[in-house]
Amino acid sequence: MKDMIILEPVLKENVWGGERLITEFHYREEGHGIGECWGISAHPHGDCRIAEGEYQGMTLSQLYAAHRELFGNIQNPQFPLLVKIIDAKDKLSIQVHPDDAYAMKHENGSLGKTECWYVLDCPENAELVIGHNAKTRQELADMVHAGRYEELIRRIPVKKGDFVQIVPGTIHAITAGMLILETQQSSDVTYRVYDYGRLVDGKPRQIHVEQSIEVTNVPDESEKKGLVHAGNIAKNEMFELVTCDFYTVWKLDLQGSYVFEQEHPFLLVSVVEGEGKICDRNVKRGDHLILPFGFGEVRFEGDMVTILSTPNCTN
Ligand code: ZN
Repeated sequence: MKDMIILEPVLKENVWGGERLITEFHYREEGHGIGECWGISAHPHGDCRIAEGEYQGMTLSQLYAAHRELFGNIQNPQFPLLVKIIDAKDKLSIQVHPDDAYAMKHENGSLGKTECWYVLDCPENAELVIGHNAKTRQELADMVHAGRYEELIRRIPVKKGDFVQIVPGTIHAITAGMLILETQQSSDVTYRVYDYGRLVDGKPRQIHVEQSIEVTNVPDESEKKGLVHAGNIAKNEMFELVTCDFYTVWKLDLQGSYVFEQEHPFLLVSVVEGEGKICDRNVKRGDHLILPFGFGEVRFEGDMVTILSTPNCTN
């Protein structure tokens, strides 16, 4: 049997970040303004190191390049997925991502970004910004140019355990107090639509007005897709949150044990609550790992919630 690949997360400081990645996840002894933990990433802006075992010290991108057999010999030139935990003490800017075709053409061959959010925690009566109210591209442009953002954006109520898929071209934003696990295409291309007029180091951050107007889907269709309420699912079985061209994501709410065969090219696993064991290795909240190709039988034990994913676009 192959070893599981345990990762060392990369932490990111952000103007809107909080303390929960330190106080609740213990990724570091101290610090504040830590907005993101890139738990499983081979992206050049945050390439996780392998924490133990035969490949200890290598980065995930190096391991992916040198040992593609661990990843089912998939053909993607770059490791396709990125999993992060986001702690938004303050609201994030309102943004939109391009699709693969637009990013390829305008962003030096980068991938586009389809992403999805699992709400780990949020305040009472929390809302996320998902979608917009403009009926035509002209109306979108008019509203953006006039700064009528409160009219433009659509807010939807969410609670802990909710899940939302965000396709390219969807205007979106995480609001203050949200703790989210994001699974996404391995891309860092973001167009900022609006930043609430905030100053960072005395200056407003760059707003990508023209790109935003160009890539935003009009009319917006995010409303139809809706949320998945996954706070109360059956225990000890894989619950599919989404499957799309890029990934499939599951939640496993474990109380006891669950045994399955790892039949995917590889499977990403993040422990988001509680603790337990994966094939006799102790794991706890905040651990991120990969079960490689040909891993065989997997035994999860304990009292924990995990979010799992596998890539679908593999050539
Ligand atoms: Zn995004």
